Amino acid sequence: MENTDLYSMYLQSGIDKKVLDFCFSIERELKERFELIDTTAEFNQMKVLNAMRKHKVSEIHFASTTGYGYNDLGRDTLEAVYAEIFHTEDALVRPQLMSGTHALTVALFGNLRPGDELLSPVGKPYDTLESVIGITPTKGSLKEYGVTYRQVDLLSDGSFDYEKIRSAIHKNTKLVTIQRSKGYQTRPTLSVEQIGELISFLRSIKPDLICMVDNCYGEFVQTIEPTDVGADLVVGSLIKNPGGGLAPTGGYIAGKKEFVENAAYRLSAPGLGKEIGATLGLNQPLYQGLFLAPTVVSGALKGAIFAANIYERLGYFVVPNAVEPRYDIIQAVTLNHPESIIAFCRGIQAAAPVDSYVVPEPWAMPGYHSQVIMAAGAFVQGSSIELSADAPIEPPYAVYFQGGLTWYHAKFGILMSVQKLYDAGYLPKACF
Ligand SMILES: *Cc1c(COP(=O)(O)O)cnc(C)c1O
Repeated sequence: MENTDLYSMYLQSGIDKKVLDFCFSIERELKERFELIDTTAEFNQMKVLNAMRKHKVSEIHFASTTGYGYNDLGRDTLEAVYAEIFHTEDALVRPQLMSGTHALTVALFGNLRPGDELLSPVGKPYDTLESVIGITPTKGSLKEYGVTYRQVDLLSDGSFDYEKIRSAIHKNTKLVTIQRSKGYQTRPTLSVEQIGELISFLRSIKPDLICMVDNCYGEFVQTIEPTDVGADLVVGSLIKNPGGGLAPTGGYIAGKKEFVENAAYRLSAPGLGKEIGATLGLNQPLYQGLFLAPTVVSGALKGAIFAANIYERLGYFVVPNAVEPRYDIIQAVTLNHPESIIAFCRGIQAAAPVDSYVVPEPWAMPGYHSQVIMAAGAFVQGSSIELSADAPIEPPYAVYFQGGLTWYHAKFGILMSVQKLYDAGYLPKACF
């Protein structure tokens, strides 16, 4: 009976019987997989909880500071909790870190000096970093300050090109940036274990390299983080995984004390570093979001796996595929036609708790090469730990789908995306 009720609830919510039957049959096959995700979430919940217990998080830490923000106990304790979770000496966790790109920029500018070289041994970095590094000539880029850049692409099978990496490292190579997640590319996401192997190799060539990991979308997906396998710095956004959907803004940089301090000197001012920065009442959602993050990430992962299984069965190319292990929360689905990605995004939007009635359109966005369509019915503007989908309108017409504060919402979003494609007649009849 219960099932029947849920079933009619979905029918009333705009999903056709044929779409429901197809998607439910796939969900039933994923039970064991979901149990493993729950176990990871449980482990990470304990990791977060133990860090909060150890640092005696208390109501006093939710108090607000203004002005300079000297002696903001809540801020300093939150940074200690982050350092505990990532097993690092220190952390900088601030609402003044405006985005992932900004946090990465602060970490890079803080730790690089004129004449130094930055190396990416994992191919092209995230689009927005092209301007930061100066790959795309941009005012104020690292390049303008005399920091050079070198890149070694992954081999065609997605593995590291160790020989090229070896020859790319020389006396000026100071910092290595390793992007954990595929971002908007179709290369595979790196596991923490793979990142560890790469770092060991880099260290064997030049022991004093600063190894930084762009950790965006990877936090709490596995039970270990890049700093557990030798990374000196991890950097990410609080409106992705570690903010748990509650952080309204912010970013983090965790790692060796010296490198975190260098970043803090760049964020505020040389000499001031971590001492200043008012939290304006944001400590409480930053703590609570971190507390919820392991569960939220598990819901997002289930959504990604559900989508991969459905769209693969419908005949589309999906990365990661239906069965391979997950190292981030992003799901890429290649839908082959611009109209199909527009329909997909409109389905995600229609399922949203906020702005469900809005119809997304492709648009030119700063920092992106082509037009982009974005579906996001989010409580926090631009939050991509909330259910969201983005697609650049260019071949191979792949949509990147991520997030979902709850598994049930992610599920409904995917059902809606299938429904929109079904309504438009784009799906193979044989499946229904
Ligand atoms: C999202 C993301 C960024 C940039 O973060 P923003 O908050 O969008 O500036 C950088 N790297 C990766 C891998 C990302 O996923």
